[in-house]
Amino acid sequence: MDERKDRGRTPGIDTTLTHAGLDPFAYHGFVNPPLVRASTVLFPDVDTMLGRTSQRYSYGLTNTPTVEALTKALDALEGSAGTVLVPSGLAAVTTAILAAARPGSRILVPDNVYGPTRRFCDESLPSLGMTASYYDPTIGAGIAELMQDVSIVFLEAPGSTTFEMPDLDAIVAVAKAAGAVTMIDNTWATPLIYRPLEHGIDFAIYAGTKYFAGHSDLLIGSISANERMWPALQRFHKNFGIQAGTEEIWLTLRGLRTMSIRLERHDRSGMEVARWLQGRPEVSRVLHPALPEDPGHELWKRDFGRSCGLFAFVLNGSEEQAKSFLNALRLFGLGYSWGGFESLAVLGETEHSRTARPWTDGPVIRLHIGLEDVADIIADLEAGFAVTGAK
Ligand SMILES: *Cc1c(COP(=O)(O)O)cnc(C)c1O
Repeated sequence: MDERKDRGRTPGIDTTLTHAGLDPFAYHGFVNPPLVRASTVLFPDVDTMLGRTSQRYSYGLTNTPTVEALTKALDALEGSAGTVLVPSGLAAVTTAILAAARPGSRILVPDNVYGPTRRFCDESLPSLGMTASYYDPTIGAGIAELMQDVSIVFLEAPGSTTFEMPDLDAIVAVAKAAGAVTMIDNTWATPLIYRPLEHGIDFAIYAGTKYFAGHSDLLIGSISANERMWPALQRFHKNFGIQAGTEEIWLTLRGLRTMSIRLERHDRSGMEVARWLQGRPEVSRVLHPALPEDPGHELWKRDFGRSCGLFAFVLNGSEEQAKSFLNALRLFGLGYSWGGFESLAVLGETEHSRTARPWTDGPVIRLHIGLEDVADIIADLEAGFAVTGAK
């Protein structure tokens, strides 16, 4: 945060979110940092050029004022030693894994992990000498039995599609005792709800595409690391030659400033819709850890206490009925990704993706509750149920 705004007290999270990464008087007083498009950075003389560190920026791939504004903002929100940016959320996942990978070892991954993360682990890791094993997300301290030759324990909370809440503290304690690197895909919670590094996790991974940017108009990813893992992450990112696009970074900074109030609304509307769904005969179960009936509720309360607008429900009907329900929606868009301002729905893929604990329940429909009026959102779902006739 700009030193001029420092009142000698630790700012609250919303103050941090509002001002982090900004340094207006470094740019003639303009509130926002410039959008710097750059490859070449010029040096005044050869000695400065060879001594590269004596000049703040040396090459566009590594750092620019735009990159720095976002990485500093995320460091302030996370309490991290450093943050790197990459072109997508999936690239954030794969970069974090590769930065910590040790050939010949195993990575433990939750069974309800984001689908493309699973695909990467199954299709791309074996040729690098790593193998992935999947664990029941509700395993808790029981993960100790799976720790042979494990160098990475991957976490996601709550997991994609079915939203089981893991016991993060228990899993992290076991992983640390075994000397494994821990990393979490924290896209659902954002650092406003859960700050992984404070809980001993080494990497916090984000699809900034979702709530950071918040407007369904770009792709970006970030990884924030603690002191222990920052040197390895920074080196890997630099050597790998990836960076997020300048315009995407700039727009993400813009989106970030309103993330707290957007999340509050997504949470409030999401809970209203979740409770309404609980009362519908067409719904056999709502998968949302903020509901007291959810098996993960106590863990959610301990670690999160707040939610975003993403959850799912199990339809009391067939897959055909789930499809006709989705086809009948008008306000909800049918589309991948989430975290933008608008409501979205997808049919969850549970059948072929699970191995540790196969899904035996009915079809899962995942909803992202947007910023529309809740009454309109509910009216759309009601119309969908009317067409489907599931019961
Ligand atoms: C969307 C998503 C990603 C990937 O983000 P992209 O920017 O679309 O690549 C990763 N993890 C989770 C949990 C996601 O929902």
